[in-house]
Parts: sequence; C-alpha cells; structure tokens
Amino acid sequence: MSLLPKSFNVDLNQIFDTVIIGLGPAAYSAALYTGRYMLKTLVIGETPGGQLTEAGEVDDYLGLIGVQAQDMIKLFNAHIEKYNIPAIIDTVESFRREGDIYVVKTKRKGEIKARTVIVAIGVKRRKLNVPGEDKFTGRGVSYCSVCDAPLFKNRVVAVVGGGDSALEGAELLSRYATKVYLIHRRDQFRAQPVYVDTVKAKPNVEIILNSTVTEIKGDKLVRQITVKNLKTGETKDVDVNGIFIEIGFEPPVEFAKVNSLETDQNGYIKVDEWGRTNLPGVFAAGDCTSTWLGFRQVVTAVAQGAVAARSAYTYLNERKVR
Ligand code: NAP
Repeated sequence: MSLLPKSFNVDLNQIFDTVIIGLGPAAYSAALYTGRYMLKTLVIGETPGGQLTEAGEVDDYLGLIGVQAQDMIKLFNAHIEKYNIPAIIDTVESFRREGDIYVVKTKRKGEIKARTVIVAIGVKRRKLNVPGEDKFTGRGVSYCSVCDAPLFKNRVVAVVGGGDSALEGAELLSRYATKVYLIHRRDQFRAQPVYVDTVKAKPNVEIILNSTVTEIKGDKLVRQITVKNLKTGETKDVDVNGIFIEIGFEPPVEFAKVNSLETDQNGYIKVDEWGRTNLPGVFAAGDCTSTWLGFRQVVTAVAQGAVAARSAYTYLNERKVR
C-alpha cells in the first residue's frame, strides 16, 4: 500500500461527473462514495492525507485502534484505488460555471471540466503574528508537534494553545524534551478532558494559564520567548529552544471569495445538512465547512465526504445527465 494515490493515467480532457478538490479524509471519503455510485470522478489535491500527515497515532476512529496516521492514509489510497478513482497532485486555483459545466482551473494541469464539484480543501494553520515568528520559522518555531517533536530531544520547548492539537502536542513533546511549557490564553482548556488529564500528569510539563506569547527572540535559533500574563499585564522572558504554535486553523476565506461560495460569520463554507453550498452542483465537506459546530475530526470529515458524494449523485440523477 502506498502513501500516494494513483492517477491511472487519467484522460483530463473528458468531462467528469465530479471533481473532488482536496486530499484529506473528507475528500477520500467523497471519492470512495462517488466511486461506489459509479460517477466519473477525479480527485485533485496537494497533500495526500491533508492534516492527517501531521498526526501520529490516531485513536479516535472507530475500529482502527491506535492506528498510525500514515497507515490510515495508505488504507485510504488502497480503498479509492479499489474503485479505480484517479487522484492527481495539483492546486486548484478557482472554478467557474459555463452552462451546466464547471471549469476547474488548476495550477499545473490546466482546466478540467466537471458536472459537479465537491470542495474538501481543509483549513490552514493559524499564526500568532508576533515579532520573531516568521524569522524563526523552521529555526525553532514549528506549527506541527507531531512532525518536529523528535528534533527537540533533551531541549526546552513551549507549546501555545489550549485545544486538542496543543494538548496532544505537549504530551508528545514531554516524551522528548526535558521541559515543556504549555501556554494558554485562558484558564479553561477547550481540548478533550482525556488530553488535559494526561498532560497535567506529566512531571516535566509546566502549564502557564491566562498568558500569551508576545515575542520570540534568538540569534540563529530561538533562545527565548516573552510571555505576558493577560490578567496582571506582567511580562517575563522564558528560555526555550523551540516554540510550537498550535492555535488552530484559518477558514478558507480567500478560496470561498474567489469562487463566490457563501461563508458563515467565521469564514467557513456554508453548507446545509446535505453538504450543498449556495452554488448549484457544488458541495463541500470536512474542515472547510461550517457544519457540526466546529467539531472537526477525521470521523466527521469522512461522514461529510460521504454525504457530499451522495448529494452529487442525487443532483446528477435529478438532471438525468449521467
Ligand atoms: P482549536 O480547537 O481551534 O483550538 C485553538 C486553541 O488555540 C484554543 O485553545 C484557542 O484559545 C487558542 N488560540 C487561538 N488563537 C489564539 C491566539 N491568537 N493566541 C493564543 N491562543 C490562541 O484548534 P486545534 O487544537 O488545532 O484543533 C482544531 C480542530 O482539530 C478541533 O476541532 C480539534 O478537536 C481537532 N483535533 C482533534 C484531535 C483529536 O481528536 N485527536 C487532535 C487535534 C485536533 P481559546 O480556547 O481561548 O479560544
């Protein structure tokens, strides 16, 4: 089984029943279902696995107990291969409607035509936007604990955030680093209690609440961060070798705007319970969408992908264009 999906030498000049944009769990699931509905499908995405590539062990997907994320991606590839669904690595810049057809503009492969589009583009990481962050990115500033934790063996690190990513990251880093500061801007964590309890039990994790990082300092590498207590206004410099910024994700505002997709007040693509967007024949699924109160899990993305595929199938059947 491979980490890369197959392209099956697909003819890109045909009109597809559906083009799925993205290569995360929602996109794979949509592809599996459009495959089972026998829709002529093309998947176009940048990174096979999407955010799963940044995960280590996944233990909250029913039935796959403690599966490694990489193994999960391989299984996803094998599953869509079984239905001969081609996937190509490319970036979709935009799509436009011409009559009953959507013309999907890609960065490398030119324009691709489809009767329906399923948008499953995920979300991008949020930045702290403090002095030093850009300068030291890759030189002590990281946005992915799972990817970079082993680089900080016997070092001192800070993790910023109070969600699942930050808590999961702090736990992982505590296995490598001598000391982990977990810095959160409130006194309540939004992470699942199981993560909070695990981190609190780690003797080398110091939790700093009601605080934020206001500056990242160093020479060639990160050496220090400035931490501000938001209740007292006091600031202090803390010596660290690395800082992991795990403060969530930005919604796909730009992509939505370029493609006239309606968004909710937070910038996520608005969909109904069937994954329908404001555009006819365009569906959306996974983390880029507004549904399910921001509960973004592999299992929810996969469910939304299946629903969007079903909607594309119904849409095409109603128009009898297949
Ligand atoms: P998140 O749930 O949005 O949490 C982001 C955290 O960063 C929050 O605690 C937030 O503080 C804090 N934050 C946001 N902007 C900040 C800023 N400018 N400065 C300082 N702190 C800031 O993001 P996430 O933890 O990356 O998780 C994203 C989604 O993926 C969630 O739905 C999560 O459940 C899911 N996820 C799931 C798993 C899992 O189930 N195993 C693992 C990782 C992620 P406030 O709390 O004050 O808002």
